[in-house]
Amino acid sequence: MASISPLSVDEQIALVTSDDPHHPANLICELCRNFYTLGWVTGTGGGISIRQDDNIYIAPSGVQKERLHPSHMFVLSHSANTYLRHPTPLKPSACTPLFLAAYNARGAGACIHTHSHWAVLATLINRGKKTFRIANAEMIKGIPSPATGGYHGYHDTLEIPIIENTAKEEDLRESLEKAIEEYPNTSAVLVRRHGVYVWGDTVWKAKTQAECYDYLFQLAVEMAKLGLDPAGPIDPVEDES
Ligand SMILES: [Zn+2]
Repeated sequence: MASISPLSVDEQIALVTSDDPHHPANLICELCRNFYTLGWVTGTGGGISIRQDDNIYIAPSGVQKERLHPSHMFVLSHSANTYLRHPTPLKPSACTPLFLAAYNARGAGACIHTHSHWAVLATLINRGKKTFRIANAEMIKGIPSPATGGYHGYHDTLEIPIIENTAKEEDLRESLEKAIEEYPNTSAVLVRRHGVYVWGDTVWKAKTQAECYDYLFQLAVEMAKLGLDPAGPIDPVEDES
């Protein structure tokens, strides 16, 4: 991927300068501050990317996520696979190839990667398994069903693929792409002992889904601690008459 921008310095600055709080460069900073308070992007880990038409905005690697500034943003031309903005001396996020996998395969509008404890624990309660499953939980209704074009229903079983972690984040790309292909109804991929990648049609849908997923991961972990099966059936109610 070329790191020399075809744009002038002024054009590059204009890409990340806006008074509009909904501009991707501003939104990424705001959302990272919020996600930091949730424990999703501490220790400079995790991240978020937003696509605006052909331009993909990505926060840099190794930067304190709660202190991001719009001037830190990398901007990538999706069609040309070229950096329009590559702020030195910063390094592009190691998540970039993973975010691109969701943009390429699903036409996503935004991708979120968290190192949430609940996502990590959700992979650990499914030791040796290739998927996380949960059923009969209200918040499942917040998760899209790409295969049907709608959303999951309350009684549906939500299934999320789990891929194995690698020594380097960028080396996850192949298995992430395979999981996206093998599970057409998923909008997230869990990474064992690492976290989760979530994508959505828009940044707000991606954020909502990331919150629903995190809620469901926590619910499943707490259910497992109580000896309950997160994917189990609804118990019949006793007739006391
Ligand atoms: Zn990560």
